[in-house]
Amino acid sequence: MLPADSVDARSVAVIGGGPAGLMAAEVLIQGGARVDLFDAMPSVGRKLLMAGRGGLNLTHAESAEAFLARYGTRRAQIEPLLKAFGPEALRGWIHGLGIDTFVGTSGRVFPTGMKAAPLLRAWLRRLRESGVRFHMRHRWCGWTERGALRFATPQGEQSIDTHTVVLALGGGSWARLGSTGAWVPLLTQRGVPVAALQPSNCGFDVGWSEHFRTRFAGHPVKSVIAACADSSGLAYRQQGEFVVTANGVEGSLIYALSARVRDEITAAGSAVIHLDLAPGMALQRLIAELSRPRGARSMANHLRSRLGIEGVKAGLIRELVSTQDFADPARLGAAIKALPLRLIAARPLDEAISSAGGVAFEALDERLMIRALPGVFCAGEMLDWEAPTGGYLLTACFASGRAAGLGALAWIEAGGIEPMPSNRGPRRVDG
Ligand SMILES: Cc1cc2nc3c(=O)[nH]c(=O)nc-3n(C[C@H](O)[C@H](O)[C@H](O)COP(=O)(O)OP(=O)(O)OC[C@H]3O[C@@H](n4cnc5c(N)ncnc54)[C@H](O)[C@@H]3O)c2cc1C
Repeated sequence: MLPADSVDARSVAVIGGGPAGLMAAEVLIQGGARVDLFDAMPSVGRKLLMAGRGGLNLTHAESAEAFLARYGTRRAQIEPLLKAFGPEALRGWIHGLGIDTFVGTSGRVFPTGMKAAPLLRAWLRRLRESGVRFHMRHRWCGWTERGALRFATPQGEQSIDTHTVVLALGGGSWARLGSTGAWVPLLTQRGVPVAALQPSNCGFDVGWSEHFRTRFAGHPVKSVIAACADSSGLAYRQQGEFVVTANGVEGSLIYALSARVRDEITAAGSAVIHLDLAPGMALQRLIAELSRPRGARSMANHLRSRLGIEGVKAGLIRELVSTQDFADPARLGAAIKALPLRLIAARPLDEAISSAGGVAFEALDERLMIRALPGVFCAGEMLDWEAPTGGYLLTACFASGRAAGLGALAWIEAGGIEPMPSNRGPRRVDG
């Protein structure tokens, strides 16, 4: 970092204009800082807008205990952030932007209209009016030898002097929306521990037969229960739906299991989940129905007429059950209640909804400042936590952005840098 007397001590550079960076910028400007926000892309919030395509799931209305449990092994690190700015506070903040929210039947919380664009538009207007200055097409490339921030811009490389920085660079999925994960070596080179970015909320490869792939790719499978056990033997079951893809499976039910499945594949080379294709029917009743005389009818017809199992569900059974088991009512019934599906690889990070891995919490203080880089704060998906879909991702991104922004404010107020009389923004030193 530069000597304290060279730039305005109250100016903060926020790098990354996703939900975390924008939230950091907001609390900083409200706290009296001068805020310059830089983003590599021509506009901010691209992943937020993409999230709004399928219905922007902002947060969840379940109990605090259930909500916190979604953060798994990182609960202890995320809990204080959500205590300060949890689902209720987030909804209040969104209402303050003039956007109403509603709770869907599953408890998920959405903005009225489901889209992200009105929220982002209102938010950016408020940020601009408050004085946040936006610098698009500025890709952060690390620090100069003197400690200035380096940016690649359409005008060539530029470096910016500033003492206080909030990094909110996102994870590594959907790189075309801006979060490429290219920041990882920039921090590890400076001695910051970063857990490797991995796909989270992702699909998996199965290796379907050509026949099954051609016939059923794109078909939704609903409603089923998927069960798996993690490496410690802990069982997990959830009801929902998924989609058969050309390579394997994806969709909300698969995403919910994805962290366990991914870790099991890493440890053992593959992971088996069990599908209950008839969640509403007990095994005994299933076997009794399958055992009824079927005359000249095929077992496939019998499945359809007695149990309503047809289409992709019947296809899965034919794909995964041996001919002998298919012909035996007891063994077929057992397979319908617990159909083993072997998943062999996670889909690539770029296809995932989110990333696991990132800056280790152990490297940060309670204000989310990197201990090894005083004045540098981190927020959002670039931190080492993961959560299922359901609004938990955005909630923690908003909350950590707010915490990092408040942390940066406290840092400058506590004299992390001597206050200067001038009111200049960050100073461009070359380029
Ligand atoms: C298809 C899809 C649907 C989703 N739906 C939901 C949902 O409904 N609910 C939910 O909770 N979550 C959802 N998510 C996840 C959620 O959108 C992300 O977790 C969230 O956007 C992460 O916020 P962030 O601010 O940490 O990072 P991002 O939103 O990824 O923003 C990071 C920003 O940093 C910029 N940047 C990166 N590197 C640099 C650099 N070197 N220099 C300058 N700028 C840089 C990027 O351009 C980007 O603007 C979805 C994700 C996807 C892909």
